[in-house]
Amino acid sequence: MTTRMISIRNLNSNIETLHLVFQKTSSVDIEKNNYVTGSEKEQLFHRIQTLEMQIRQKCHQHDCFPADLSDTAYRAYLWLAFLSQRQRFDQHSAFIYAFLEHWRELTNRSIILKLYNSAFVFQCKPEKKTTQVAISEGFLLASSKDVQMLVDCSLRPTPKNLVPLRALSRGNTYKHVMGQIWRHTPQSNLSTQGEIYDLQRMFDKINDEYFSGNLGQPRLRWSDREATRRLGYYHPDSDTITISCFLDQRDIPAYVVEFVLYHEMLHKKLGLKEVNSYRVAHTAQFKKLEREFSKVTAAETFLKQIQQK
Ligand SMILES: [Zn+2]
Repeated sequence: MTTRMISIRNLNSNIETLHLVFQKTSSVDIEKNNYVTGSEKEQLFHRIQTLEMQIRQKCHQHDCFPADLSDTAYRAYLWLAFLSQRQRFDQHSAFIYAFLEHWRELTNRSIILKLYNSAFVFQCKPEKKTTQVAISEGFLLASSKDVQMLVDCSLRPTPKNLVPLRALSRGNTYKHVMGQIWRHTPQSNLSTQGEIYDLQRMFDKINDEYFSGNLGQPRLRWSDREATRRLGYYHPDSDTITISCFLDQRDIPAYVVEFVLYHEMLHKKLGLKEVNSYRVAHTAQFKKLEREFSKVTAAETFLKQIQQK
């Protein structure tokens, strides 16, 4: 299935360049000590829009949609689409500016900063000469106090310092921004159709049988790797269900794949409950609904055998 997927040439290196230019234009601003929208910034905005359009055109040529791209490419596309809105672009520049300004006040260390639609919330790598910091775009609308907190975390990423960062990533503003970024494009069967099983068809069937057709459409994807431990997962920020491509084989009965998908669909429906600041996914209610799957015992037995191998 992944072999049929189309790829966008130089996408990763183009994204890396955009991060650098964002940082560079902000550094220039800081040296001038004022926030201006110079021509370099206009070029950057134009570049983002062009790249977004090129991806859409390429998909169009192949009769598919951006959501059919690999996870990495789709993340990049959604980020570009988000920043193609002038207001978002300006907010993004303002965040980079505020972060770097505060960073300069505290340290002379050089930094490579990325604010991105990344799969993680925060990543900090202090290297010999440079600190590499990658922050989820979900923090875009952080207040200046929270930007300072993010800078502190980047300078000292201790577990204790990361507590407020985690809390912020669970807040409504963060969720709101992620919701604005992850506006799914439709999918074609290019990415949902495996060699044996079609995730979209399976989703529709289970949705009809167990959810009265009321569960909203998430993005569905086969994993890149044949994981046998983690056979499926639901990622709430990106509203994506990933199913291990290990299950896409003739030796696996359809009801087993359906059961794994059903389990992830329940996660989408029920969300995560927070108990004493721990997130609980498999609540009593979850387990009760899981038992409603028609072949639950047979499916569980089969899965146990796979995972014991
Ligand atoms: Zn689960």
